[in-house]
Amino acid sequence: MTEVPRRQFLKISGAIAAAACLNTAGLSGTAAAAEPLNEVSMLIDTSKCTGCRTCIIACNNWNRLKLKEFKFHTAREGRPRFSDHQWIDVAYNRYSSKEDEAAPGKMLYTRISCMHCRDAACVQVCPVGAIHHTAIGTVEIDEKRCIGCNYCIANCTFNVVGFNRALNIARKCTFCSDRLSRGMIPACVQACPTGTLVFGSRNRIIEMAEARVVELKKKGASRAGIYGLDELDGLGMLYVLEKGLENSETNYALPEDPQVPAAASAWGIIYKPIRSVVIAAMAFALWVNKGESRVKS
Ligand code: SF4
Ligand code: SF4
Ligand code: SF4
Repeated sequence: MTEVPRRQFLKISGAIAAAACLNTAGLSGTAAAAEPLNEVSMLIDTSKCTGCRTCIIACNNWNRLKLKEFKFHTAREGRPRFSDHQWIDVAYNRYSSKEDEAAPGKMLYTRISCMHCRDAACVQVCPVGAIHHTAIGTVEIDEKRCIGCNYCIANCTFNVVGFNRALNIARKCTFCSDRLSRGMIPACVQACPTGTLVFGSRNRIIEMAEARVVELKKKGASRAGIYGLDELDGLGMLYVLEKGLENSETNYALPEDPQVPAAASAWGIIYKPIRSVVIAAMAFALWVNKGESRVKS
């Protein structure tokens, strides 16, 4: 991972410090104190989520997305493909287990958006390099470079990329990069009223998740665990799952063993080294084509 440029480092550290101030004020958006930073993460403590969907509204407001309707789906139905009108989904499931005396019949809610995967299928398949990892570990789409080919949409492990037909570009959660660069925390984190969402440096977020798992286990949730530590080499979104990682697909709409599709890996290996040659050839063909058109006219 490349070094974070000094100016960006200062601004994002500012975002983390701002989150720390919210923490001391006892508001949602709690996060860690400013510390040396090269990767950010979001904690999603599903044990605190009430399914209120305020995060969706905050995301849509900040990103000026036109929310047409809330689409509800259960974790058991699987993950629907995202639209460009909504970059977060909240799946739900009525958990029931006779073995679980701590909370039988409890509703489970899971906030889902782009996971900002370290091993990201979308990055591997994008033919023009429009999707890339940033210096702080997030996955970003450069809308000026996107050619609307839909490869990232078809190959995303979590089905979370939408397509904007009017602009002919793929779009998804940006991790609020525009807010972070202004020293603000993500809009969904700031709006969440229950403290489910926390933004901070990855190391600090992992510490918080581990501490929460210990707390939940003490309360009787013996299977509690963290999703996103090892999955796809680590996800930018780290989940505390009260009911554990086993059956995470049916309980939380999170695949138990998420993978980069084999075709996407092969495409990345074969195509990436010759990408610049192919793009140059395409540009040359277009240039020749234009020249010929001019001669004929
Ligand atoms: S969740 Fe999908 S879009 Fe987001 S980084 Fe992973 S593969 Fe790419
Ligand atoms: S981080 Fe920003 S863009 Fe991503 S889901 Fe939250 S509000 Fe939306
Ligand atoms: S705003 Fe917070 S509590 Fe409400 S659905 Fe989103 S993550 Fe859950």
